[in-house]
Amino acid sequence: MSAGSGEPEQQALFGWSETLPEGAAPAPVRRTPFRDTPEASRMLDVREVYAEPAALDSPRGQQIMSRLSPDVRVTEVDGHWRIPSLHGNDGNIGRWVRIKNETLVLGVKHKLATRPNGRSADWIAPGPSNGCAMACAYCYVPRRKGFANPITLFTNIEAIVAHVRRHVRAQGPKTEPNQCDPRAWVYDIGENGDCSVDALVSDNTADLVAAFRSMPTAKASFATKFVNPDLLALDPQGRTRVRFSVMPPGDARLLDIRTSPVADRIAAAADFLDAGYEVHFNLSPVVLRPGWQRDWAELLVHLDDVLPARVKEQAAAEIIMLTHNAGLHEVNLGWHPKAEELLWQPDAQETKRSQNGALNVRYSQDIKRQALARLHQLLAEHAPWLRVRYAF
Ligand code: SF4
Repeated sequence: MSAGSGEPEQQALFGWSETLPEGAAPAPVRRTPFRDTPEASRMLDVREVYAEPAALDSPRGQQIMSRLSPDVRVTEVDGHWRIPSLHGNDGNIGRWVRIKNETLVLGVKHKLATRPNGRSADWIAPGPSNGCAMACAYCYVPRRKGFANPITLFTNIEAIVAHVRRHVRAQGPKTEPNQCDPRAWVYDIGENGDCSVDALVSDNTADLVAAFRSMPTAKASFATKFVNPDLLALDPQGRTRVRFSVMPPGDARLLDIRTSPVADRIAAAADFLDAGYEVHFNLSPVVLRPGWQRDWAELLVHLDDVLPARVKEQAAAEIIMLTHNAGLHEVNLGWHPKAEELLWQPDAQETKRSQNGALNVRYSQDIKRQALARLHQLLAEHAPWLRVRYAF
């Protein structure tokens, strides 16, 4: 279906009734929070916690612990960063995914700094977590983490929110539109994790969404690959942008380990919009391989077919070409070598030393330029309503 045709029928993903029989009084909605469902515990079934004592003692730490099984094993650690038996243990590579499912780290984030970005967001806020229960093979978060990358939740969320509020206040109103947003200062709140999964065990995401609700000059933004229906109740009032990451489903099955299926992320878009979020898409990462153009075209056709007009009208996209990393390549060979056949393509990639000294690889300039031009063509052909905010 092409843009501009009538709004397609889309079933509400979560099956909540939208109409009542005539004269019927609405029944009180009593829904088991998603985080208490078996589906949620397939993502996170915490059996072991490493925690700084101050994090355990904090109100947020206590709230998180009260939601976990009383049998959870707790190990106190001096610092949340590079715990030797976790991040420093090369024997953990074989348990890469299991550790993500069963382990949680609680820490206090001491250095609260907001960094300028200018591409996806105006600013990168100090995130409420670092690490992830999902296991995308290309994920940059574990590049400096060593041999394990479970979620670390930061329990000093009040300090994080207070820092962000001060930063927003200091900016004043945004007077010049830019690619991040025409009116609001955009703050990425999920640079090193996935806020939707964090919300299964912590209210950090809810607290940030609530904080931005009352900041009319700013907007929170986070990318996600997980559909967490509990976020629909957070009432963001347009001040949070959720960016559903999408890629051809065949690539996702190989690379996006433990994430929601791509079709579910797309199907959730209208529910999130109706719940008060701005909904954008990350076309990311774009992985070049034989047949990539055909499969991206199919994905764009799917977006065009199933998304209602109200989603399309406000949607925008980021395109992010794959970058990878030599150290992560070695780690991945230990738990998911098939992914590396796709991600590690020395003939098409060049090495670049990043600012932090890591050796990253990306498609060579020519290959990248041609691929981006082709993607723009595919968008013009199949999803012309999808404005590209930036391509990287
Ligand atoms: S969802 Fe994001 S943070 Fe989590 S593993 Fe995938 S890329 Fe990394």
